[in-house]
Amino acid sequence: MPAMATGNASYSARDLAHVWHPCTQMKDHEVLPMIPIRRGAGVWLEDFEGRRYLDAISSWWVNLFGHANPRINAAVRGQLERLEQVILAGFTHEPVIALSEALTAIAPAGLTRCFYADNGSSAVEVAVKMSFHYWRNVGKSAKRRFITLSNSYHGETLGALAVGNVELYKDIYKPLLMDVITVPSPDCFEREPGESWAEHSRRKFAHMEAALAQHAGETAAVILEPLVQCAGSMRMYDPVYLALLRQACDRHGVHLIADEIAVGFDRTGTMFACEQAGIRPDMMCLSKGLTAGYLPLSAVVTTDSIYSAFYDEYVKLTAFLHSHSFTGNPLACAAARASLDIFRTDDVLDRNRALAAHLGAKARELEAHPHVAEVRQHGMIVAIELVRDKATREPYPWQERRGLTIYRHALSRGVLLRPIGTVVYFMPPYVITPEEIDLIVQVAREGIELATCD
Ligand SMILES: *Cc1c(COP(=O)(O)O)cnc(C)c1O
Repeated sequence: MPAMATGNASYSARDLAHVWHPCTQMKDHEVLPMIPIRRGAGVWLEDFEGRRYLDAISSWWVNLFGHANPRINAAVRGQLERLEQVILAGFTHEPVIALSEALTAIAPAGLTRCFYADNGSSAVEVAVKMSFHYWRNVGKSAKRRFITLSNSYHGETLGALAVGNVELYKDIYKPLLMDVITVPSPDCFEREPGESWAEHSRRKFAHMEAALAQHAGETAAVILEPLVQCAGSMRMYDPVYLALLRQACDRHGVHLIADEIAVGFDRTGTMFACEQAGIRPDMMCLSKGLTAGYLPLSAVVTTDSIYSAFYDEYVKLTAFLHSHSFTGNPLACAAARASLDIFRTDDVLDRNRALAAHLGAKARELEAHPHVAEVRQHGMIVAIELVRDKATREPYPWQERRGLTIYRHALSRGVLLRPIGTVVYFMPPYVITPEEIDLIVQVAREGIELATCD
């Protein structure tokens, strides 16, 4: 049948013959169908047999304004006709200049310098190296360690993996990684009964204060994900932690690196999550939504004071000699600018507030479920934590892979959900409608029923 040759099965077979997929046990695909996607439009993805899937996770948290967004498409197409790529050392181009102006205009005041890379992990590597190197340049070379939170995630390259703390990704590679100082996360799932998020986050800060007091002399920076530890099961905390951290870092002379790779660009209800604490980090890492999910690009936005510590005669060898081939790629910068234009012209933050309120209200209807321990939210990120025993919060054994049941059910109903263990979450593109929100929550509800019925 010639029709079959262009169907999902044919692409799947060709794929599995040669493609090694990210973050995947490939043997799973003996039973789990691969889904080849032919096109996307708005929140919808379409496979080669015409089945559609609502992308409730923004294709791994990157998409902001839908697939094949007409305005971003036009910007990338226009740039493509002019310049696809050029070396960014000694040369520059209009998209990177305009993007840097736009980013520094919306970033917390005082973040004035943009250093580019081409993915999130690389941005974290840049921030880590930049902080270490800064302290060397100012004559404090003892400051070379990093403080990080338990349950944190900063990417997969060795430096980023070292400052992260999700055991599933990190454990096996430990012999390859630099040693870091790990402080308990303010994760509010662990708060005492009756304790508020703010009280819990404030109480947990004592560990950070103690680590800074003990290690400030040997510490270059604290790195953390503001408000939501996304890869760490979407665990969340209160902005007060960030405010306390800013004060403590200033007091102890330690940089604060905010990894806003997942939470930046209004994922949590403000353009950048740090704004909710009224703080300015010393370095802010951006990627994922930076290009509205179109092309790989990342940036570390930092201060004049850090920039100046590298600025000297060449022979002093204080320059930051870090580069990636595709640093500041013009097509990616054009997509990022188009995305920031949409923020500027379309009242995105107000619209998102309304959508987030609707999403949160719908999801909280699941709080009464006997296996739902918590429904939590920061803006357009909503997570539902499942447990075997609601009273004791005993988790399901991970080996049972109950999240996979939810994933498969959702696909059969035309929704892309991708639970992290037994945490079901929604992080949809901002062009989702209230009716589509009702659909993804309904499908999650059915999936949760199915996965917890025994
Ligand atoms: C995804 C992510 C990264 C890594 O970005 P990649 O582009 O996947 O390398 C780093 N930090 C956070 C908080 C992330 O969510």
